[in-house]
Amino acid sequence: MGKRAMTISTVNPVNGETLRTFDALSEREIEAKLQRAVDAFAINRARSFADRATRMNAAADALDRRKNELGKLITTEMGKPVTAAIAEVQKCALVCRYYADHAGKHLADECVQTDAADSFIRYQPLGAVLAVMPWNFPFWQVFRFAAPALMAGNVGLLKHASNVPQSALAIEEIFVDAGFDAGEFQTLLISAEQVAKLLDDDRVRAATLTGSEPAGASVASNAAKQIKKSVLELGGSDPFVVMPSADLDEAVKTAVKARIVSNGQSCIAAKRFIVHESIADQFEAKFAAAMEALKVGDPMDESTDVGPLAMPQIVNDLDEQVRKSIEAGARLVTGGKRLGGNYYAPTILADIPESAPAYAEEIFGPVASLFRAKDASDAIRIANATPFGLGASVWTNDRAEAERFIDEIESGQVFVNAMVASDPRIPFGGVKHSGFGRELGVFGIREFVNIKTVWIAKRFDGDRSVGAE
Ligand code: NAP
Repeated sequence: MGKRAMTISTVNPVNGETLRTFDALSEREIEAKLQRAVDAFAINRARSFADRATRMNAAADALDRRKNELGKLITTEMGKPVTAAIAEVQKCALVCRYYADHAGKHLADECVQTDAADSFIRYQPLGAVLAVMPWNFPFWQVFRFAAPALMAGNVGLLKHASNVPQSALAIEEIFVDAGFDAGEFQTLLISAEQVAKLLDDDRVRAATLTGSEPAGASVASNAAKQIKKSVLELGGSDPFVVMPSADLDEAVKTAVKARIVSNGQSCIAAKRFIVHESIADQFEAKFAAAMEALKVGDPMDESTDVGPLAMPQIVNDLDEQVRKSIEAGARLVTGGKRLGGNYYAPTILADIPESAPAYAEEIFGPVASLFRAKDASDAIRIANATPFGLGASVWTNDRAEAERFIDEIESGQVFVNAMVASDPRIPFGGVKHSGFGRELGVFGIREFVNIKTVWIAKRFDGDRSVGAE
């Protein structure tokens, strides 16, 4: 993606108006916040799960209570339709409650039978974890990190994307109002260039980044230089495979939804639609009609399907990918044009040659790439012909065929007859260039913990049992 100027500011994507600008924190301010994080870790580490859960549930209640106001803030800062923004805030309440309820179980001592009198695993928090987050789900990306991290006893430092500073500050406020100590979750308004120095600091114990490949490579390598763990949730070019036995109308309806989620700017949006050749013409006609019927417009209007892209640079990048793909020989089925400002027409490209950007690159906007597959093997070949491996959606009513897709598609998740979506209960993450590590579910809360092995050779006098009681 192209370079963009990174002042920390809210710029309304609807009209380009700068609404608020913030100064980046000074070295001194960062130093004070780091020290506060260390102090707060001592507090949160010592809290019981029940105590943390009370606060986490209070955060969930605040999110529910403030969902309309916070949804509008999301829409103002990054342009997604307001109904989706409000739903995003509610989903954050869900992840808070999920970890409030399950952290104790996910992190309970685990007995392991060995030659010892007693041996078990204890999960302990690490300290301050730095989260570098993107703007496309400005609340959800943060909460799916913060809820498990804080419930595990860690403390969080957020470096949010530079175009969503008010969301970043509102999230900090939610945690403070919910009763967390001021240092347990802190927003750092800093530039991307200030991240490396933070990672060098001993007080930052680990890092997680959701974003692009270059940002991920930079954060993970800087963390690795200091022997710190990182989790990366990067881009995707997810396949959406449709086979002849599938319910075509349901598949088309879901295909549209899966492509335009967050105005097309989602890592797990379906991007490459791989359709069996026997139903490809039908699929293309129905898909095109549905994409053309979408209402593009003001994201504050509840009837809008697709709002503006978040930044002018994204429109430029997207338009260039579409133009280059057409130059390379792709056929434009519908759309393929700017609609003024940050708006871009819902677009479908077909007959895409391997040399075209639309073949394997991530396309971050409402542009679908359509492929024809001869059979299931061919569909798997095309699905895997990308550096990414985040999610995959496959549509078939043939159980054996579904099993093949589950086994052979290289991705962190496969959804059968459904669109790929994150859910607090199940792990989320990718393989290949989509990153490593997992968020959510039991795996998510065990990323930033010390998995401590405890071996007690002999029973203590008077002990019946020790450890995991
Ligand atoms: P981005 O440029 O990588 O930005 C993401 C975050 O990283 C921002 O906070 C950004 O700060 C920061 N950053 C950028 N370069 C950095 C560097 N060299 N060192 C440290 N921090 C750096 O990503 P984007 O283009 O805004 O977001 C879209 C990307 O995120 C897409 O590729 C999308 O697929 C991916 N994504 C992945 C997931 C997932 O779960 N796998 C979810 C959502 C999005 P500034 O804003 O200050 O530059």
